Amino acid sequence: MSELNLKYLTLGEEGFDQNLADMLSWESVSDGDMQKLVADIIHRVRKEGDAALMDYSAKFDHFEVESMDALVLGAAEIEAAFHRLPEDQQQALQTAAQRVESYHSKQLSKSWQYTDEQGVVLGQKVTAMDKVGIYVPGGVAPLASSVIMNAMPAKVAGVSSIVMTTPAPKGEVSDFVLAAAYVSGVTECFLLGGAQAIAALAYGTETVPSVDKIVGPGNAFVATAKAQVFGKVGIDMIAGPSEILVVCDGKTNPDWVAMDLFSQAEHSHDAQAILISQDGEFLKQVEESVKKLMPTMERADTILESLNSRGVFIKVDTLEQAIELINTIAPEHLELSIDEPEQWLDRIRHAGAIFLGRYTSEALGDYCAGPNHVLPTSGTARFFSPLGVYDFQKRSSLIGASAEAANELGKVASVLARGELLSAHAQSAEYRIND
Ligand code: NAD
Repeated sequence: MSELNLKYLTLGEEGFDQNLADMLSWESVSDGDMQKLVADIIHRVRKEGDAALMDYSAKFDHFEVESMDALVLGAAEIEAAFHRLPEDQQQALQTAAQRVESYHSKQLSKSWQYTDEQGVVLGQKVTAMDKVGIYVPGGVAPLASSVIMNAMPAKVAGVSSIVMTTPAPKGEVSDFVLAAAYVSGVTECFLLGGAQAIAALAYGTETVPSVDKIVGPGNAFVATAKAQVFGKVGIDMIAGPSEILVVCDGKTNPDWVAMDLFSQAEHSHDAQAILISQDGEFLKQVEESVKKLMPTMERADTILESLNSRGVFIKVDTLEQAIELINTIAPEHLELSIDEPEQWLDRIRHAGAIFLGRYTSEALGDYCAGPNHVLPTSGTARFFSPLGVYDFQKRSSLIGASAEAANELGKVASVLARGELLSAHAQSAEYRIND
């Protein structure tokens, strides 16, 4: 294993802003070749349907099947997977699902309406989407938590059909993932991966139903396909690599902080872990903890690569300065490992999820606290929010005019429509003006 080579920056030193910007920058892997390859896969699935899906499963997942039946799991098979799990896993999945459901139920928007001074009824009708598809990545790890976090907000919103798709390399599919689907209200699972799975959900095939929105993470083929089908269907977001920013006053056990940094770094070689402190000595102590604990980690190679390429330890003079940096970085996960973290909340404007105090590890939020773990990455917390019930609800405007209101408002509409040279608009309002 190569050496740890952490990058240290000090706020105020020459070139700090540029050095930080360089560390934060991240390039999407979706180049022209990838765009073309994915477009070809989508085109073929639209043209050939199930036959293309079976062919791609054989080619990319080494799973050869005689018919589509082998690529579809129904509600009974999904439930059976849950019952095959050991009891502690069953219970943990149920507890996580219940907590996530309970938290998300607070996000439900309701329809509203009122009558204004002119007697016009105005309002907003909120409706759940009909059909949602969830992509669950195959290779890296059995991402059961990802199933719960993507499906539960849709279930709480009242989406009537939630289907899932996940690749089954050599026909293998994780019981843990299927069991998570069971506790989250998913009723059908397709054993399909990559761009072909996204194409099938967007356009439908003889077997796979088309959906209204596709959510869930995946590799570059999946992300590129989601971007290409956007418009035909809704998508959640194109997520970048995972990130954590820990702000620590130097009073937390350095081993805890090191492990929190690892918990993101172990996701991928390009995941980002940043530590900010006003205590330079503490930064060094955490580096020592990193060196001590790294060899004990199963994913030590990935952690090392991630820390060496994108890890940063930043020395500031005051906590105020740390908070300003948070707003510049707009991190996906922010741990405030400090005394009285609530005191600083008013000043933090951009972060996907904020973990308050030394005892709140990011892992709690990843799995079971309740809030969603699908969060804005790469600084997009400036304008994006965590995945939520609101992502599966849509709004219709309501307008109801009485004869009197049509008379009054019609005059305004007529003037504006004639100003825009749209005479049919003007006349449709004028027909209802009766004085
Ligand atoms: P995956 O399910 O995303 O992709 C597997 C599929 O990729 C295969 O089924 C195949 O169809 C397709 N594929 C593979 N090689 C191909 C090729 N040469 N041509 C065309 N298609 C090909 O699983 P994975 O590859 O293990 O990746 C999981 C991804 O999910 C990782 O990139 C990880 O970073 C990402 N992820 C992100 C988050 C997040 O929150 N950002 C969370 C979990 C996972």
